[in-house]
Amino acid sequence: MKNEFQSDRATAEFTVKKEAEANLPTEFGLFRIVGFRSETSDEEFVALVKGEIKPDCATLVRIHSQCLTGDVFNSLKCDCGPQLERAMEMVQAEGSGIIVYQHQEGRGIGIVNKIRAYALQDEGADTIEANLRLGFDIDHRSYDQCAEVIKLLGARRVRLMSNNPDKVRALRDAGIEVVERVPLEIKPKAPAFKYLITKKEKMGHLLQLNGIF
Ligand SMILES: [Zn+2]
Repeated sequence: MKNEFQSDRATAEFTVKKEAEANLPTEFGLFRIVGFRSETSDEEFVALVKGEIKPDCATLVRIHSQCLTGDVFNSLKCDCGPQLERAMEMVQAEGSGIIVYQHQEGRGIGIVNKIRAYALQDEGADTIEANLRLGFDIDHRSYDQCAEVIKLLGARRVRLMSNNPDKVRALRDAGIEVVERVPLEIKPKAPAFKYLITKKEKMGHLLQLNGIF
C-alpha cells in the first residue's frame, strides 16, 4: 500500500521497511512519526517527518544516534539532548525535514557498556580510551540503513544537520547528495568539555568549541 512518503521507485534495493506512521504533536510543533524495521537485524528506526519531502529539493535532515543519558535524562556529559531539540526546532522553522532516530546507543555499544565507559571516564579516561579499554572500537555505528530510511521517505538531496564528517560520507556513499552541512553546535557546559574536545581532536568532528577554547 502506498502512502505519502513512499516513492514509486522499486523497494527491492532496501533492507529496511516502513511499518507504521502516525501524527506526533510535540513541544516544537506537529510531526509525522514513522517507524521502520530492518529486514537484516532486530534494529528499529524512527523518523520524525515534517512537510512534503521532494527528491529535487534540498531537505533538512538529521541522523540522531540514540543517547539515553542525553536525550532523556538531560545529561551534561554530552550535547546530544540539546542537539536533538535544536534539530526539531530547525525542521519546524523550515516547515519540512527529516530526523532519523537511530537506536545505536553509546556509538553502538549499548547502554550498559556505555555506563561501564562512563565509570572509566570517572577515573580519567576519555570517551575513546574508555571504549578501547572495554574492547570496543571507537565507533560501532553504521549509517547505511539510516540512508535507506531517508531515501524511502523520498529525499535524495539533503542539507545535513551534523558535526560528524562520517555521517556526511555515509550519505554520499549511499547515493544521497549532501548539498550542505548545517553545523549543529550547542554552547557546551563544563562536564561535556572533555568529551567534545576528544570528538574534535581524535574523531575529526567539525566543532568550533567556542566557550572552551
Ligand atoms: Zn550523548
